Amino acid sequence: MTTMPVLLKDLTSSELSVALAPLGVSPHLARQLQVAAVKRDEIPESLPAVSAKLLERVRREVRLPRLSLLNKAVSPCDGFAKYLFRGDDQESYEAVRIPLLNRKDDLKYIVCVSSQAGCAMGCRFCATGRQGLVRDLAAWEIVDQVIRIQADSEHPVRGVVFMGMGEPLLNYESVIRAARILAEPCGMAIAGKAISISTSGIVPGIRRFTTDRLPFRLIVSLASADSARRREVMPVEATYPLGDLMSAIRDYHRVSGRRVTLAWPLISGFNTRTEDAVQLAELTCNLPITLDLIDVNDATGQFRPPDRAELDEFRDALRLHLKMPVIRRYSGGRDIHAACGMLAKQFCSPTHFEGTRFSTR
Ligand code: SF4
Repeated sequence: MTTMPVLLKDLTSSELSVALAPLGVSPHLARQLQVAAVKRDEIPESLPAVSAKLLERVRREVRLPRLSLLNKAVSPCDGFAKYLFRGDDQESYEAVRIPLLNRKDDLKYIVCVSSQAGCAMGCRFCATGRQGLVRDLAAWEIVDQVIRIQADSEHPVRGVVFMGMGEPLLNYESVIRAARILAEPCGMAIAGKAISISTSGIVPGIRRFTTDRLPFRLIVSLASADSARRREVMPVEATYPLGDLMSAIRDYHRVSGRRVTLAWPLISGFNTRTEDAVQLAELTCNLPITLDLIDVNDATGQFRPPDRAELDEFRDALRLHLKMPVIRRYSGGRDIHAACGMLAKQFCSPTHFEGTRFSTR
């Protein structure tokens, strides 16, 4: 049919249907193949009411790619698990399994996936940003992070956040295709609203996300409501300044009707002053937002999270001036370098190793 095999896990079921139609594959059979690939990680050898000859033709034309698991570490403190994967080349990247800690008898997981190997954005509080960009991940490489982690877990994965390595909106096509595959009923069947795409503020990507009217949640990392200060820690501000960013976010809200989540990495002495709360309130005036406060995790020690008193003061200021929902997000897995901003392929303590030991480059 074609010289290149059709990659399963890399296409939505309707794309798969189009790709395999020249072989005589019906949309129904394409969906069955998708279920087998994504839910069971296999290409079926036989299927009721499908001729062996047709299935054999399909098997010759498709490939079921798989990530290799290079390493895994589980935090003895909070149960966060970090996985190091490799695709078809030598590049490796990480994903984190996050237990929903408040549900002991009904444990579920969220998986934080990488969308790129490395990252070009250079956020100063982030270990991935210090590595630079190596390459975009293909959709199947994103989908398979979730499939492999689900296969390794006793409890179901119910949510996915694109907050691992990379800037998702700079790998838009693969990220959105992966999110669609994860959401579709014959894929991982994860609810669209339980899939969050996070961005450092790529304005054209937010505009495209708005136009595409996607069912996924949008999270925008802000760090400061003052352009000059934001630029100190997030170089993206030089390309897409706060004014343009907020206008894209307001348009997104107007078109989708959804509340936007703004992520605020808490940095002691930098963005936790009353003035920061006042500026944020002015910047987001009349826009329904949820503010996610996340402790900064900087292994270099240059940026530190606030202590209890500083945090309480900032929360009081937010209550007074912002008057919007504020959520303190737990950023777990610090002891295994799995917390937000720490993904740099480090597996440091031998006591936490599980699975194959691998020497990272
Ligand atoms: S915080 Fe995200 S966008 Fe910024 S450098 Fe790290 S991985 Fe890239």
